[in-house]
Amino acid sequence: MTDPVLPPATVGVLGGGQLGRYAVLAATVMGYRTVVLDPDPAAPAGVVAGEHLVAAYDDTEALQRMAARCSVVTTEFENPPAASLELLAALVKVAPSARAVAVAQDRIAEKAFLTGTGLPVGPYDALTDGSEERPRVTGPAIVKTARLGYDGKGQRRVADRSAAIEAWNELGRVDCVVEALLDLRTELSVIVARTTDGRSTTWPVAENTHVDGILDLTVVPAPIDDALADRAVGLAVAVAEALDYVGVLAVELFVVAGADGADDLLVNELAPRPHNSGHWTLDASSTSQFEQQVRAACGAGLGPTTMSAPAAAMVNLLGDLWFDDGGAVSEPRWATALDAASAKLHLYGKTEPRPGRKMGHLTVTAPTAADAARRAIELRSAL
Ligand code: ADP
Ligand code: MG
Repeated sequence: MTDPVLPPATVGVLGGGQLGRYAVLAATVMGYRTVVLDPDPAAPAGVVAGEHLVAAYDDTEALQRMAARCSVVTTEFENPPAASLELLAALVKVAPSARAVAVAQDRIAEKAFLTGTGLPVGPYDALTDGSEERPRVTGPAIVKTARLGYDGKGQRRVADRSAAIEAWNELGRVDCVVEALLDLRTELSVIVARTTDGRSTTWPVAENTHVDGILDLTVVPAPIDDALADRAVGLAVAVAEALDYVGVLAVELFVVAGADGADDLLVNELAPRPHNSGHWTLDASSTSQFEQQVRAACGAGLGPTTMSAPAAAMVNLLGDLWFDDGGAVSEPRWATALDAASAKLHLYGKTEPRPGRKMGHLTVTAPTAADAARRAIELRSAL
C-alpha cells in the first residue's frame, strides 16, 4: 500500500465545471492546495482553485506543468482525452485511471465491459460503420452517440430499426449504440467511493427523475424496499471492483419489470466522477461526495456516509429559470430560497444562463423523502 497524499500536498482537477468546483472547495477545507486545468478562464472551479491553468485538455505543456505541481490528479468530467490521462499517469498519481475513464466515456466500451463482467444491461446493439451485427433491437429505441453525450444530448428517440438507422445517419454515422426503449418503473443511482487498497463506501440509494433527458429531481433515501436497495448497492460496488476503480464512481440504474413482474435492475451508465444525484451529500451527509473524492484519490481515510437528516431532495436550477415567457432574462428571486429554513441554495457562478444549462441546485431536508421532494419543487416554483 502506498502512502496517502496528505495536506498540504497539491490536488489537481482536470476539468473546471461545478463538480470540480466542489472538489476544489472540499480539498481546500482539508488543507490541500489545488490546481485546475480547464480552457475556460471563467470555469466555475478555476475561480476557486489555488491555480487555474487555462489550457486545452490536450495541451502537453500544461499537462506537464500540472503533473509537476500536483501529488495526485483527479477528473470531474468523463471526456478528458485518454492520451492526456496517460501522459499525466506517467508523471503523477491519477485517480480514476485512464482505463476506467476510457470505459465510462464510450457507451460501446461501457456496455461491453458490463456484459463481460456479467452485469445486467438492457437490450442494445452497437451501430458502427461496417458493423455486421444482427440487430437485437427492432422496436422503439433510443440512438445514443457512443461518446460525448450528456444531459440527453446526442440522443434520438426512434420508432423502429429503419428510423434508428436514419437517426444514425443524421448523427453523422459516428459510433452509436441503439438501446431498446425501456418501460422504466423508476431510476436509481448509487455513488461509490473506492481507494487503491480496495476500501469502499456508498451513500443511500437515490431515486432520480429526469425531464427531457436532464436530471430534475433526486430524493434520498429512494422509496424502495431494502432488498432492492441492497441489490442496487451490490451492483454498484461490483462495478467499482471490476474496474479496480479509485475515486468516486456513480452508477445509474434502471428499475424495470422482470419476467415474473418483480422489480429488476439494469445498469444504465457509469460516471467516473461525482454525480449530480449526489449533490445532496453536500448538505445532508457526514461526508460529501466531493470530500470523499479527494480522500479516495489521495488514498487517505474515507469519511462516514451517514445521512444527517432523515431524508433529502435536490432539484436542479437550469438556465430556463432566468427566462420569462417573452424570453427576457432576469435573476430568479433567491430571497425565497434563502429564507426557507430547511433549504440550501447552491449557485455555480456561471455568468451566462442558457436553457438546459445547469446553473445551480436546491437541497431540502425533511422528515420523509416525499415531503422533501414536495418542498423542493414548491421552493423552485417560487423562484
Ligand atoms: P446521459 O449521458 O445524457 O445522462 P442517459 O443514457 O443516462 O444519458 O439517458 C438520459 C435519460 O434518458 C435516462 O436517465 C433516462 O431517463 C432516459 N433513457 C435513457 N436510455 C433509456 C432507455 N433505453 N429506455 C428508456 N429511457 C431511457
Ligand atoms: Mg445519465
